[in-house]
Amino acid sequence: MALIVQKFGGTSVADMERIASAARLVESEVAQGNKVAVVVSAMAGETNKLVKYISAISPTSDMKEHDTVVSAGEQVTAGLMALELQKVGLKARSWLGWQVPLRTDDSYGKARIKGIGPGTFARSISDGQVAVLAGFQGLSSGNRITTLGRGGSDTTAVALAAALGADRCDIFTDVDGVYTSDPRIVAKARKISKITYEEMLEMASLGAKVLQTRSVELAMKYRVKLQVRSSFTDVEGTLVVDENEILEHELVSGIAHSRDESKITLIRVADRPGIAASIFGPLTEANINVDMIVQNVSEDGAATDLTFTVNRSDYEHTLNVLRNNKDNLGFERIASDPGVTKISVVGVGMRSHSGVAQKMFNALAERGINIQVISTSEIKVSVLISEEYTELALRALHSAYDLDEN
Ligand code: ADP
Ligand code: ASP
Ligand code: MG
Repeated sequence: MALIVQKFGGTSVADMERIASAARLVESEVAQGNKVAVVVSAMAGETNKLVKYISAISPTSDMKEHDTVVSAGEQVTAGLMALELQKVGLKARSWLGWQVPLRTDDSYGKARIKGIGPGTFARSISDGQVAVLAGFQGLSSGNRITTLGRGGSDTTAVALAAALGADRCDIFTDVDGVYTSDPRIVAKARKISKITYEEMLEMASLGAKVLQTRSVELAMKYRVKLQVRSSFTDVEGTLVVDENEILEHELVSGIAHSRDESKITLIRVADRPGIAASIFGPLTEANINVDMIVQNVSEDGAATDLTFTVNRSDYEHTLNVLRNNKDNLGFERIASDPGVTKISVVGVGMRSHSGVAQKMFNALAERGINIQVISTSEIKVSVLISEEYTELALRALHSAYDLDEN
């Protein structure tokens, strides 16, 4: 008898009909003699709605109350799913994060899981109950509700699978697997049957929202057998596996994009030791994450232009911090662009092959797309481009690396 964690995302529990069909997927797993724990997201669109309510009062609200509100959608679907399961004759019970408890740190809005209390929750599963856990939510050290960041139910599911020692964690969503690029934008994207943890981690962190980044990190750390599949069609999904389980590595396995980027350039900053530290120090203190950075020394060698990117949600905040520190930093002025996209090609095959970046630069040049910033790591190359070219760039690169479905 295997123990399976099944996670249903927003579109898979979007209405009563979808919840009933998700319940049938649970039922069929139980019918095969397996024990099942279910993790649910809020109904599609529900969390956005809750975020909007908060913004209508204050966009910079108290994050403790923010989490109390935005975690609410998952409570509804957990209860409804338990009722659906009972209706088809299964013993089922819903659980909220605090009841398990799923302990997190105190970073409201983007909390990290610290541990999952085994207790009654695990016992209910071994007693033959289907336990339905509300995803996305946890409990802080001060016993308040936290949330795990957008898309966080994936992480709830993987953490639960690790804690229970589950045989498999199935992520049911609205696409039937992980594709070479977002299939909603690149029509010729191909489904990948197996992808390594490392590549999936890069794809997720570079914008492929099919899995939350933290969920892949946890799966990799605890070697959770992870599968992404559709709750709409009964076809095999994508397995996320160890590198040695894939015999032939593609040079490039996928192309990810993120529109959540914004670019800021400080023009004519004094070129002296310690300047980068004095610029990025206040940003770190303000909890702003800086991603790509380039620095150009001016012709006279006295001043430098410094360009970097931050998440679009931090754009205004970043500009304010910089303006408030203008006297210390001594830059001439700020040039900024909130509308840029980061496009990344990812593949473990890059470790042993050269020319991957060059192919990317050529393909973009042929379409007249200007590259604003470049960054590379062992298994990825990322470029920053103007947002209006996002689709064109994705499709051009997809063809350039021979990824198109025939
Ligand atoms: P859920 O609500 O089930 O968690 P998400 O919307 O979070 O679903 O994630 C699924 C979506 O991820 C898909 O609809 C697809 O548009 C998007 N996506 C982005 N990149 C990829 C990719 N490389 N492969 C598959 N889906 C992707
Ligand atoms: N409902 C949350 C969100 O929309 C969590 C999730 O769906 O994974 O971000
Ligand atoms: Mg998701």
